[in-house]
Amino acid sequence: MPHYCGYNSIDFMIRYLVKTNYDILIVGGGLIGQLAALACAKIGNLSIALIDGRDILNSEIYEQDGRAFALSPSSVRLLNHLKIETDNLSQPIQDMLITDGEIGEENAWRLHFNSSSIPHDKIAEMIESRLLSVATLNRLKTESAITVIAPHFISDLIHDDSGVSGIVAGKKITADLLIAADGAGSPIRKAAGILYEGRSYNQKSLVTTIAHSLPHEGLAVQRFLPGGPLAILPLIDQRSQIVWSDTSRAIEAACNLTENDFLTELNHRIGGHLGDISLIAPRQNYGLALQIAQSVTAKRLALIGDAAHVIHPMAGQGLNLGLRDIAALYDVLKDARSVGRDIGGAALENYASWRKTDVTALAAATDGLSYLYNPANGPLSRPASKALAHLRRAGLSAINESEFLKTILMSEAAGVGNLQPSLLT
Ligand SMILES: Cc1cc2nc3c(=O)[nH]c(=O)nc-3n(C[C@H](O)[C@H](O)[C@H](O)COP(=O)(O)OP(=O)(O)OC[C@H]3O[C@@H](n4cnc5c(N)ncnc54)[C@H](O)[C@@H]3O)c2cc1C
Repeated sequence: MPHYCGYNSIDFMIRYLVKTNYDILIVGGGLIGQLAALACAKIGNLSIALIDGRDILNSEIYEQDGRAFALSPSSVRLLNHLKIETDNLSQPIQDMLITDGEIGEENAWRLHFNSSSIPHDKIAEMIESRLLSVATLNRLKTESAITVIAPHFISDLIHDDSGVSGIVAGKKITADLLIAADGAGSPIRKAAGILYEGRSYNQKSLVTTIAHSLPHEGLAVQRFLPGGPLAILPLIDQRSQIVWSDTSRAIEAACNLTENDFLTELNHRIGGHLGDISLIAPRQNYGLALQIAQSVTAKRLALIGDAAHVIHPMAGQGLNLGLRDIAALYDVLKDARSVGRDIGGAALENYASWRKTDVTALAAATDGLSYLYNPANGPLSRPASKALAHLRRAGLSAINESEFLKTILMSEAAGVGNLQPSLLT
């Protein structure tokens, strides 16, 4: 007997026991899988099964994730369309400062944005993963079209012209469309034989949260230091998220420092704008890689979120990119459904072509920046790396002097483009 937890768990269990045939089967119930289920439910007259190997109905599991996300305005609009309000949970980023220099060499080169450069009142909103996850879960529990089957794995998965089927806890379930939201390691992508392009950055990010004596005033700081970028991102309640990227060896060493020594190192890198700082969360670390699936569709299959693309977190865009997958898929499935077309058929080609430009452009931009700032990952020799340092500083300086360019850059990061899926508008 599967284990179901949380409010309304009996409803979920009864639904699962009586129903084995769904319109859509989503494997992977991380944030992207859960939000995709809500978007599919919004289309109407669709039944959705959401399967995850973790106990995703238990809100306690989300406390373990120390990350926070910078949500672009279009991502916030998508959440609002799905009836998830972030206003009381998130901190607006009102100003952004990007510096390039040696540790302790304050702001040698600066790129200064503020929200008046773009047609929004905020650049992005910082929200902690645990808060967004619980808000999403609470919303999920109110949606009768969705059956959550967790913690469970699916076996004998088949997706071909005739349909989708698999075995969960000894029962066969079927659907018309399979959505893989099963993360960077995506077993479904692998089983479908879809390769990805990319590489390991041989870098890690250390993530933690600090409290500080001075207010951050909505300022997000990204310092490009010799080892990699350090982001200091404002959170609610006078706290900030730290995302410190460096070589794997340097990050592991930073994780093993005593708390006092770690704070001394961090202080040195942050500079003094936050006053006295203290550590209020464990230090977690994540390996960094670039992974772009060569195709995001196969027979009756759509890949979304990290299953389709993993990019360097320096631009804080991974989750935003996954939300844009959901928005595109929503319009494609809604259109197909409205004219009675098969949701697992040719409609998926529109999803693939719609997502290609956005994913490729963002992957290229973050990969290029990562290369400029960490040339040890690339083929250039040391003298050439020095030339690159001049190049990137000249680039930052030129951008800083051009209000027009900054407006374009920030509008892109905020998700404002010409052809937008409806959930982003
Ligand atoms: C340090 C760091 C900072 C980041 N900061 C930002 C940021 O500021 N802004 C931003 O937009 N993005 C950011 N990102 C990226 C963001 O975290 C990811 O893009 C996002 O969390 C991916 O969500 P997902 O649901 O696709 O994948 P996951 O969260 O990995 O979820 C996958 C789910 O699939 C389940 N699963 C896997 N295999 C199976 C299976 N066989 N059967 C059943 N279930 C399965 C797992 O249990 C899991 O629940 C950051 C990433 C890192 C590493």
